Amino acid sequence: MYGQGILKGLWVTFRHFFNTYVDDIRYAGRKYFRQENFPIRQGLKAQGAFTVQYPDEKLAVPERFRFTPFLVVNDPDHPEAPGEDWCTSCGICAKVCPPQCIWIVRGSDPTTGRPVPQPTAFFIDIDICMNCGFCAEFCPFDAIKMDHNYELASYDRTTHHIHDKQHLSRPLSYWKNIAPTTALEEAVARGGWEHPDVLKAMKKAGQTAVTPTWENMFAKPEPPARPLPPADAADEDPAKAERLRKREEALARKRAAEAGEPAQPAVEATAPAPAVPTGDKPKFDKQAMLEKIRQRKADKG
Ligand code: SF4
Ligand code: SF4
Repeated sequence: MYGQGILKGLWVTFRHFFNTYVDDIRYAGRKYFRQENFPIRQGLKAQGAFTVQYPDEKLAVPERFRFTPFLVVNDPDHPEAPGEDWCTSCGICAKVCPPQCIWIVRGSDPTTGRPVPQPTAFFIDIDICMNCGFCAEFCPFDAIKMDHNYELASYDRTTHHIHDKQHLSRPLSYWKNIAPTTALEEAVARGGWEHPDVLKAMKKAGQTAVTPTWENMFAKPEPPARPLPPADAADEDPAKAERLRKREEALARKRAAEAGEPAQPAVEATAPAPAVPTGDKPKFDKQAMLEKIRQRKADKG
């Protein structure tokens, strides 16, 4: 029917308009002020108005969202180099930047004058930056990342919109916070997950696939407990049983010597010794043994 599409569209508008008042009653006027209502209002279950009350409310941006770049530095609680730049002032980001809005001043050693891998100055003109993310893609040291902060308007674009090194620097924890999955993937790619200790422990524990997390990434793993031999291992392997018996005898002799008792000679066994309870052991006859030794000496002489 002619005009049916227009009527359908108007019906959708009218329905949302009407449901806005229904929602006001349902949420007792707190629809726009309760954080838990926000995702419902922005989701498929939205009934009434789904507009965002910006700047009181803001839509969450996806993790891969990119605005202007920032420089990654070590966290303030880093054990070795708190606040140290990751940037080595290699200049690759400045070369690949399509509108050429990055300026870098490489640092130099004050005594020798030789260049050092740290920038003394780093500027980005965010009015020229076109948010392409090439700088972050090409940086070989993961030192430059794309920020999520899009509220950068100001009344003085000639000075406020040229971000210097201090303005650009953010700790690694900030990057982990705004892009947890990407930051973890990068750390895995940098080799944290392939730490030899981690791989060794995984192999010993028979693990082949473990989900990397920040917790298990750099923590030195506990060595897995050595499996105990089965209780009846000696019964299964006669040679092992013999070795165990000899070791037990040697230990008993050592303990006796330490306690000041006379040493007991080793008794040769022809068959694996069965497990004999301590109380059933035949008593050692020292006099008979001495007599036997004397007899052997006399026979030889
Ligand atoms: S941010 Fe990365 S690519 Fe740019 S100069 Fe620093 S280390 Fe090189
Ligand atoms: S995001 Fe693109 S335009 Fe902006 S500084 Fe990086 S490379 Fe240049």
